[in-house]
Amino acid sequence: MSETWDVVVVGGGSAGLSAALMLVRGRRRVVVLDGAAPRNRFAPHMHAVLGHDGLPPTELLAKGRAEIEGYGGAIVSAEVVGARRSDEGFVVEVAGGESFVGRRLVVATGLRDELPAVPGLAEQWGRGVVSCPYCDGWEVRDRRIGVLAAGPGSAARAQLIRQWSSSLVFLTNGTGTPDPDERAELEARGIEVVDAPLARVLTDGDALAGVELVGGAVVDLDVIFAMPTPTPHDEVLLQLGAERRDGFVPVDEFGATAVPGLWAAGNVVNPRANVPVAMGAGASVGAMVNHDLVAEDVRLALAVSA
Ligand SMILES: Cc1cc2nc3c(=O)[nH]c(=O)nc-3n(C[C@H](O)[C@H](O)[C@H](O)COP(=O)(O)OP(=O)(O)OC[C@H]3O[C@@H](n4cnc5c(N)ncnc54)[C@H](O)[C@@H]3O)c2cc1C
Repeated sequence: MSETWDVVVVGGGSAGLSAALMLVRGRRRVVVLDGAAPRNRFAPHMHAVLGHDGLPPTELLAKGRAEIEGYGGAIVSAEVVGARRSDEGFVVEVAGGESFVGRRLVVATGLRDELPAVPGLAEQWGRGVVSCPYCDGWEVRDRRIGVLAAGPGSAARAQLIRQWSSSLVFLTNGTGTPDPDERAELEARGIEVVDAPLARVLTDGDALAGVELVGGAVVDLDVIFAMPTPTPHDEVLLQLGAERRDGFVPVDEFGATAVPGLWAAGNVVNPRANVPVAMGAGASVGAMVNHDLVAEDVRLALAVSA
């Protein structure tokens, strides 16, 4: 615990690396502590990311890490296990016991997707089972698509995904959705509603082939759009006194939490952020943290010269 960094960034995905890139280009001393398990690691390719459409997600992050290191930023492969306030700002502890001190702390630790407990579903995550139509819809346009209900909002989701294919099956999986109005709307657009719960996901080699329903009937499918429950990796934020509201820690329009000096960007505070949105949020946080540090630098200079 020998040096004080201007900024410690926890999480080196799109959001954390974008924050770090702004800060190192602002000549700030930055360390990124990263567990290297980005949310989209299950997907072979990334889409709807301008200039990088179709690039493997890991390649984008590898490029980002190299850019940050090129400006003198440090990237450390480490899992953060705790954080506390100190006179300098924050002390962040990683597994193994090493600590990092930062004047400011940016948390960009993403979230965990919890899928329904259907046998075989998790094994297909990121390939035959996906979530975001803007990320994967184009690749499965006009194919046989299943939309796996997860409760309220699922029927509207199916209506959205109908944009990519007219061959759509709404799998209620015993969730109690759709209501009668939604059922009529689904059927009006040719979306078949299948009410039996799912027994398991079927595959042909590596590829998804369909689902078997309880009772034995089979529905042939090329892909399933699921709606996993997002759980933020926000332990560090909570430890430092931030509080969740509606499941996520709120931040202001610039990414500041209610805790002074503590900032957050990306999926950890916004489950809807895709890669470009997470990058934008990270870049904004990076710039605002630099402004915040400049204001502190002025206060410190005044105190010395007084
Ligand atoms: C299957 C799938 C496919 C997707 N496809 C696309 C797509 O095609 N296009 C698109 O725009 N978006 C896509 N997304 C969404 C995309 O994954 C997110 O938008 C993006 O990952 C959010 O970036 P982030 O930096 O907020 O979080 P992440 O990318 O998840 O990065 C968080 C980082 O923090 C690290 N971390 C977490 N906790 C700790 C800790 N305690 N200590 C240290 N490090 C920690 C993690 O290891 C990880 O490296 C997809 C998502 C999924 C699930």
